[in-house]
Amino acid sequence: MTATTAAAAAYIVAGLLFILSLAGLSRHETAKSGNAFGICGMAIALAATVGLAARSLSAAAIALLVAAMVVGGAIGLWRARRVEMTGMPELIAMLHSFVGLAAVLVGWNGYLSVEAAADGALLPGAEAGIHSAEVVIGVFIGAVTFTGSIVAFLKLSGRIKSNPLMLPAHNLLNLGALAAFAVLTVLFVRDPQLWLLALVTALALALGWHLVASIGGGDMPVVVSMLNSYSGWAAAASGFLLGNDLLIITGALVGSSGAYLSYIMCTAMNRSFISVIAGGFGNEGSAAADVDYGEHREITAAEAAELLTDARSVVITPGYGMAVAQAQGAVAELTRKLRDKGVDVRFGIHPVAGRLPGHMNVLLAEAKVPYDIVLEMDEINDDLAGTDVVLVIGANDTVNPAATDDPTSPIAGMPVLKVWEAGEVIVFKRSMNTGYAGVQNPLFFRDNSRMLFGDARERVEDILRAL
Ligand code: NDP
Repeated sequence: MTATTAAAAAYIVAGLLFILSLAGLSRHETAKSGNAFGICGMAIALAATVGLAARSLSAAAIALLVAAMVVGGAIGLWRARRVEMTGMPELIAMLHSFVGLAAVLVGWNGYLSVEAAADGALLPGAEAGIHSAEVVIGVFIGAVTFTGSIVAFLKLSGRIKSNPLMLPAHNLLNLGALAAFAVLTVLFVRDPQLWLLALVTALALALGWHLVASIGGGDMPVVVSMLNSYSGWAAAASGFLLGNDLLIITGALVGSSGAYLSYIMCTAMNRSFISVIAGGFGNEGSAAADVDYGEHREITAAEAAELLTDARSVVITPGYGMAVAQAQGAVAELTRKLRDKGVDVRFGIHPVAGRLPGHMNVLLAEAKVPYDIVLEMDEINDDLAGTDVVLVIGANDTVNPAATDDPTSPIAGMPVLKVWEAGEVIVFKRSMNTGYAGVQNPLFFRDNSRMLFGDARERVEDILRAL
């Protein structure tokens, strides 16, 4: 068996392992084995690729390759071990930007080694055209992914504001950039000039930046999965250029599964898929008006403990603040204590609570909260009106009544947990600050709401002591 055949066989095995990995990751019972399949697939793919490349490389080049892999692997391990769960989306966004950058570099390398090579066109007519098209498309998708992911990283890590950037005629700018790309692609395929490729690169970098900058904070979960999809297509484009089947398969898997996840999330959040992938197309950026909602009222931990002891039913709706405060252990303890006293305690989980899909479920599972009392938003929403007390622990956007009551709100139409319908609502947060979408929450000023200010974990522990 030649090395090429062996590598092709290894690629098929790796491709199958990636499919098994995706299947495993779709349910929490099988997620661990899904991850293991992915790791094995990637190890096989890497070994086969390095083995294949090593045949035509000098010893010095192999040493450089190994050194790059060791340094890259060490940085990856270090980052993965240190990252907090709340920092995962921004880390993922940063990793997507690397895929985009790699696709741009592969595209430019393809151009420099074929179209711009000193000995002229190395490929026969039609093949030369296909090669040029692969170069320009790969560079375009890669550059859009690169800058789009950087903006997502900056927004998710709070380095820039999450409000949508609303340039005048922003939809026209995006459409114009796509039309210009189509024209430049035709010109480049007919005559692959350096300046044309440079222009496409600059255009795509600007478009990626603008697309993600135009999307508001509430839609960021979809943006992360959308960039995941773009990074897949960028990898597939590189696969065509490098003639690497595994990169094409893997890129298509990531591209299509990311697109499907974006679609599911848009449906769950009542958002238009086209609007989000087209950089907030049709969203004219209704800014949150500064409305005076009146005075809020506060509650002490001792009063909250009393309210909870008298309650028959309690629903806890956790959000990003519970993750920041690492309050899940104390919340689980409170749940146990109240259930021992005969109170019916359940959890209501919003699909985008926290900063990554399933964030709250993971934290509650880690704190050993029984699965059967952790319900999805749709399962619990109708029961909230009959609930005595709701504890909103570090959640904000996901319990904002403006989403249903105020058509001008930037989060209008997003399904939310209707906690305000319960008898009493206690909101755990540190201040009157807004949530991720930057929208004020009228819930805090309702007659049946009271604020329990401070770090969520400390306040829950205060209640535990008072109980
Ligand atoms: P929000 O981000 O809307 O609000 C969290 C609240 O927690 C803040 O208002 C903050 O208020 C409070 N908080 C922060 N730290 C603490 C602490 N230590 N103790 C107590 N409270 C604290 O959270 P939600 O979970 O309700 O909504 C998630 C938002 O994130 C949505 O807009 C969603 O679209 C977005 N998003 C979700 C992603 C996902 O995949 N799930 C990915 C990216 C974005 P204060 O500062 O006053 O304490």
